[in-house]
Amino acid sequence: MTTIVHWFRRDLRLADNTSLLAAAHDADRVVPVFVLDDHYGLDPNVGPSRFRFLRESLEELERSLAERGGRLVVRRGPPEKALPALVSETGARCVYANAEIGPYPEARDRAVASALEEKSSTLRVFGDALLVEPDAILSGAGEPYTGYSPFAKRWQSVEKRAPGPEPARLATPALPTVPLARVQAWKNAAENPLAPRGGEAEAGRLLGRFTTDALERYATSRDRPDEDGTSVLSPHLHFGTISPRQIRAALMAAADADPRVRSGAHRFELELAWREFFHHVLFHFPRVEEESFRPAFDRIAWAEPGAALDAWKSGRTGFPFIDAGMRQLSSTHWMHNRVRMAAGSFLTKDLHLHWREGESWFNRQLADADLANNNGGWQWVAGSGTDAAPYFRIFHPVLQSKKFDPHGTYIRRFVPELARVPETKIHEPWTMTAAEQSAAGCRIGFEYPAPILDHATERLRALAMFDVIRVSPASMARPAPFAG
Ligand code: FAD
Repeated sequence: MTTIVHWFRRDLRLADNTSLLAAAHDADRVVPVFVLDDHYGLDPNVGPSRFRFLRESLEELERSLAERGGRLVVRRGPPEKALPALVSETGARCVYANAEIGPYPEARDRAVASALEEKSSTLRVFGDALLVEPDAILSGAGEPYTGYSPFAKRWQSVEKRAPGPEPARLATPALPTVPLARVQAWKNAAENPLAPRGGEAEAGRLLGRFTTDALERYATSRDRPDEDGTSVLSPHLHFGTISPRQIRAALMAAADADPRVRSGAHRFELELAWREFFHHVLFHFPRVEEESFRPAFDRIAWAEPGAALDAWKSGRTGFPFIDAGMRQLSSTHWMHNRVRMAAGSFLTKDLHLHWREGESWFNRQLADADLANNNGGWQWVAGSGTDAAPYFRIFHPVLQSKKFDPHGTYIRRFVPELARVPETKIHEPWTMTAAEQSAAGCRIGFEYPAPILDHATERLRALAMFDVIRVSPASMARPAPFAG
């Protein structure tokens, strides 16, 4: 009787799960395991919303496995100890898992592989989380891509596989397991009905809702935070409660059935390409976890974090669009992409704070916090990343607001003290007269703060700050390790 362990990590689903399907095919008995790893459990940057999402996804996985004759085994401890122990207990021939990109998961997998070797077992890793593996496409010069457009062009031309089924039946022996209800890390993660909910069924529901209600207008409304025009599938893609193949197949089926949704489906595929591009970058340049892709950006004299950072985090900068975004983040643990860009520009270009301050706050708050996408997004906003360096691209917090939330609907939803401010003043409430403030029940400096800065002034300061790195392409390059 052959036994194989399937190690669930960020692939918390049964359908189209490459490693799980292979394990069910290759073995008579499959032991599905999730390891509670203190690397994440003790990380102060993993906030309650991610723990909650994980817990919900694991609870559902436990039920779904049980329906198919399997059972989820939960173990605690460093994976390089927990997995060899499980292999010894079950006599498993090997451990199967889906690949995960990033310095920590890659080092962890190397440690697990060598620990398993000592037990004459092996770790077999499958490509699963991406439509195109990060090492499968290189530029004409044989180098990794460092720009989105050429990457996306090449990525689109690569044939992608269709989603696979879920395993019909799984047989798991009875084994000791840590009851999910007893896990300390998520005991503190109180319920929040506004935050994204975990689980494979919820991912399917969101995909269905998106293709039916929003795909047709996605190409135009994806930039409008007031229109709920995006899928909100990002936490599901992060935790793997849905695969990009399942999403792509649903989009293609919708586009085949109805030509009106074709442009939306095409646009959505390009967004998935952004996700794949940032994973490609993290895979080939893991140093981005710790430093700017363009090292010159780490030599800029960034401002010291202080009261301004606190105002940004708590959504009290006095700029309604930015504040709405930051409050959406802290209340729902998700934030619209357009506002992530505007809030990111505000932090780096108006407050002159290092992008890492913003990355770390988003990391703690977002249910979809994802090293590749969060780091990629922040470095793109700061101009320190792979994108051809438009550090001079500085979003105007008021113009962004007028363009992407023209009636102030989004602002009113998340900044209730501005709810009665007239549409003509909602983007710049400080321009209200005293009588207008009193009619709106919102006195500037009391119920809602006055702007903490003058954008025109800070924009010039930012340009001067960035000027030091403008000089030559050489200054953007990585310094030689032993340069004097
Ligand atoms: P949709 O518009 O429905 O897009 C579908 C999917 O495509 C998303 O779920 C996501 O997986 C991918 N996608 C869309 N836009 C981008 C993008 N710009 N970059 C990479 N992938 C994209 N995304 C995360 O998943 N995790 C993060 O931690 C994260 N941090 C970000 C930080 C900043 C400063 C910025 C500017 C962007 C960040 N993004 C991050 C990207 C993007 O904002 C989110 O993926 C998107 O808002 C998720 O909402 P959605 O699922 O409704 O997107």
